[in-house]
Amino acid sequence: MASKGLTPMSEDFSAWYNELVYRADLADLSPVRGSMVIRPYGYALWENIQSTLDGMFKASGHENLYFPMLIPVSYFEREKQHVEGFSPELAVVTHAGGKELEEPLAIRPTSETIIGELYSKWIQSYRDLPLLYNQWCNVMRWELRTRPFLRTTEFLWQEGHTAHAGAEEALEEAFRMVNIYAEFARDHAAIPVVVGEKTEGERFAGALRTFAIEGLMRDARALQCGTSHYMGENFARAFDITFSDENNELRYVHTTSWGVSTRLIGAVIMAHGDDQGLILPPRLAPIQVVVVPIFRGDEPEVSGQVLDEAQRVAQELSAAGVRVKVDTREGLSPGWKFNDWEQKGVPLRIELGPRDLEAGQVVLVERIERQKAQLDRSGVAAAVPGHLEEFHRALHARAEEFRDAHTFSADDYESFRQRMEQGWVYAVHCGRPECEQKIQQDTKATPRCIPLDGPAGEGSCVRCGEPSAYPRRVIFSRAY
Ligand SMILES: [Zn+2]
Repeated sequence: MASKGLTPMSEDFSAWYNELVYRADLADLSPVRGSMVIRPYGYALWENIQSTLDGMFKASGHENLYFPMLIPVSYFEREKQHVEGFSPELAVVTHAGGKELEEPLAIRPTSETIIGELYSKWIQSYRDLPLLYNQWCNVMRWELRTRPFLRTTEFLWQEGHTAHAGAEEALEEAFRMVNIYAEFARDHAAIPVVVGEKTEGERFAGALRTFAIEGLMRDARALQCGTSHYMGENFARAFDITFSDENNELRYVHTTSWGVSTRLIGAVIMAHGDDQGLILPPRLAPIQVVVVPIFRGDEPEVSGQVLDEAQRVAQELSAAGVRVKVDTREGLSPGWKFNDWEQKGVPLRIELGPRDLEAGQVVLVERIERQKAQLDRSGVAAAVPGHLEEFHRALHARAEEFRDAHTFSADDYESFRQRMEQGWVYAVHCGRPECEQKIQQDTKATPRCIPLDGPAGEGSCVRCGEPSAYPRRVIFSRAY
């Protein structure tokens, strides 16, 4: 309900986030601690994310399939780093059908292991390669500290798993997918992410190289929005995925995996929201335009005309491909409705009252600056798609401006520590995990990525003075 004000983000970002998730009807608490119920408004947002990405995956040659959620626990022990990375978070089924199971079954935290087992069956020859598969599913990781959309024990995601004949081809795939994520973030979520590679200490368990997109949230902390991993032969060796090449020699495949999750909803909330509530990027928004008819209580006939006209506006917009809703709720003031839809982040609002009806116009209000414009009634359907495009550009520009204003470079550890309060910091880094741990103890910041583009990284580490490990400066930030 929009009646009582939302805690301002500047006052308490975390309270703002939690209140907003529930008030905007995105999610609700579950009786099981750490998991959440995704409500229709939140799920519609996810469906738009999902269908957009799914189209991008298919356009780049991938097919969907589905693996079961139960995986024998022993599978996790086959790849050493993988088991170390995931066993603390495994949820395990030990009893079923009233009996103790002979072999305990893990609820998938990710599916490399079971997929590896099947790929070893499906791949025999170089003619079977590449395998370019993806699945949309739920996964479970037993997290102690949870937060809706950002960290929950069960979440929805996609996991792509591909197998290739050689290293070069597999690396290309890992790059392709992280770039598809970046394109999605920029062109659909209006989030200007940075594409980069993870340092050794931040790599996925079992990967040789991990690439990621990182976004800056409005509390100046980073959020990893998607990852893509090159596994080399690690999983192929653990699961014996071999093929005979053109010369009839047996070789291991090279694999990749890549994923994004319902965390992207958290990214959209935190990259764009303001004290009033959500601001949704129009290409993902479940409702792009809300039409609020303004009734005159003492003149039911006029109110009926206004409502009819509001419905006609909505039909025209819908025919123009716009996702639109008319707020026909009775007994609520227009002001209350305006607040409610602003809190839900609907990009555009059309107000239509008796005077507008007479004047042959509507009032258009955009969500970012809440600027009003009058539109000629007959031109609404032709004008609104352009306004939505403009909204997307303005939202992206606003996020980019915010990011740039909170991006710094530091050459000495003192200014590095000070800047860490204010955003993310480019610094020269030695790449040693133990140095990263010290930095984290001192500043709560972690290396987010080594950007693919960015300032050159020659010189000595900002903390320890050892030589730089990378051609570029590393982005450090506090992160979710
Ligand atoms: Zn260092």
